[in-house]
Amino acid sequence: MKAIFDERQLRHTPERYFRRGAYMPHPEQAERAILIRDMLIKNQFPIEKPRDFGDGPIKAVHDPDYVDFWKDAYQRWRAEAPDQEPIPNCHPGPRRGRPSSSVFGQLGWWATDTSVPLTEGTWDAVYWSAQTALETAERVKEGERMVYGLCRPPGHHALSNASNGFCLFNNAAIAAQSLRTRFGKVAVLDIDTHTGNGTLDIFYDRGDVFVCSLHTDPDLYPTYYLGYEDERGEGEGEGATLNLCLKPGSDTDTILGRFREGLSAITAFGAEALVISLGLDMAADDPLSEVKLTGDGFATMAREIAELGLPTALIQEGGYLGPSLSRNAEIFLTASREALAG
Ligand SMILES: [Zn+2]
Repeated sequence: MKAIFDERQLRHTPERYFRRGAYMPHPEQAERAILIRDMLIKNQFPIEKPRDFGDGPIKAVHDPDYVDFWKDAYQRWRAEAPDQEPIPNCHPGPRRGRPSSSVFGQLGWWATDTSVPLTEGTWDAVYWSAQTALETAERVKEGERMVYGLCRPPGHHALSNASNGFCLFNNAAIAAQSLRTRFGKVAVLDIDTHTGNGTLDIFYDRGDVFVCSLHTDPDLYPTYYLGYEDERGEGEGEGATLNLCLKPGSDTDTILGRFREGLSAITAFGAEALVISLGLDMAADDPLSEVKLTGDGFATMAREIAELGLPTALIQEGGYLGPSLSRNAEIFLTASREALAG
């Protein structure tokens, strides 16, 4: 099983995260990807760099103006406010208006929250993270059974026209849209502990991409605003959304039970290809986790995903700097490789 990664994804270097009224060290650090990359090398997964597919496939799921804004947003902010960190503090909310011509207004317009401080290398990092997802999908379209995209920063919270939760470009949605050029019906299964709210939103009215998100109950835990079980899609997408919520404290048996509901639904949908939003932050010792998935639980998920027999793009999402991040990535990916070989 091949892995795709580009070192330019390390260039986003956020320092602080504003949470519940206080700053804390930003959890989404380049070290996450370095740890996983080193694990891939240790386990002899071949690592290849993505080709450059341009911004067209990113704009296939995102507002083109949103994509273009980020290209020089950091430089524009620095020109206006050289000593101040590029973090938005004005947000339009769901109401009429326009982005304005000011970088301060625009940054808030295209951001739902303050979780993506812009840094000098942010554009490079999110662009190559998206290209990594595209290369992963491309390899699957070319006939590889399963490919792992080490995407960083993550993507599944990014809406079509707004950043959210450490995410600017929705790598899983970009991969799913790319897979649609070869496969008629594509499913996204999101096993990150947070709601795949961006992916859900992007495909909510579409019947060709089934989105199942397994996550900690958004009534009690971020991302709060999407991911409730009565949300089932709308219009042509009616029935093509499935949210599976976990109570804080859920153990591995409970998590796997709900995970299997997702697998059954994907089979019933008739998916021809699969994107896994591979968050590792359900681990009990992840700094952001409120559920308790064990290493064996990750291995079971990997095996059961492989047993679906579908062409599969694994797209890295969350998973933070707890003691078991690298180990759980290793468990998941080696179990996937063994299941494919067996
Ligand atoms: Zn997460």
